[in-house]
Amino acid sequence: MESTVAQKLEAIHNLQLLDSKLDAIIKVRGALPEEVQDLEDEIAGYETRLEKFQSEIDSFENEIKALKESIKESEKLIKKYQEQQMNVRNNREYDAITKELELQDLEIQVAKKKITEAGYRIDTKKVDLEELSAVKKDRQKDLDQKNSELTSIVSESESEEAKLKNDREKATKKVDERLLKSYTKIRANAKNGLAVVLVKRGACGGCFNTVPPQRQADIREKKKLIVCEHCGRILAGVEDEIVEEVAPKKKRATKSTKAKA
Ligand SMILES: [Zn+2]
Repeated sequence: MESTVAQKLEAIHNLQLLDSKLDAIIKVRGALPEEVQDLEDEIAGYETRLEKFQSEIDSFENEIKALKESIKESEKLIKKYQEQQMNVRNNREYDAITKELELQDLEIQVAKKKITEAGYRIDTKKVDLEELSAVKKDRQKDLDQKNSELTSIVSESESEEAKLKNDREKATKKVDERLLKSYTKIRANAKNGLAVVLVKRGACGGCFNTVPPQRQADIREKKKLIVCEHCGRILAGVEDEIVEEVAPKKKRATKSTKAKA
């Protein structure tokens, strides 16, 4: 069943009202959700770097372990060679063993030097690790605070938001498909999130440009879809001005006050 233009306009306007309410809820949360996300990303980055530091420290420690093992091996060999040296039969054998002893001695010296170097690297990495841990801890504190702020703001509007979303889903089903497409497009490009507006005080409710009287009359008729010629927003109707002419007591009357219904 084809719905009339008036029905289509009512449906899309209804959707706009719900979306505007949802926008207002999101706006209250401000930049908080994004800040929370940024902090979470930042902290995840620190964690990755901390893990890398730790694995570097681990590998240096493993290196030291292996070097200590090789020193032990060398010491064993030295002991063995020294015993062999006691029982040599000639100078050639003696010299050969002396060379082996010198070689093992050199191996030990190199290993000790490497252990010192690795130890130094571990110390440096540990300083980096501690510094980064402190930064991370700091950031975590910020995150916790922002998270609790966000949680309390969200909880204030949680049920309202859920209801609006539910209503929105229902409202969307009533909207003409093609109209919904252009609505989504206009809304995405509109800073204030308004795609469907009323003519208020002779002006477009979205861009505040004047809507000529004849056009206003056409809009009132709701025989066809009319968009604002300035901003392209869908003009769903003309808001009737409730003018309450109160006897002007004050000399400097500001803008005409609308009745607070
Ligand atoms: Zn406009």
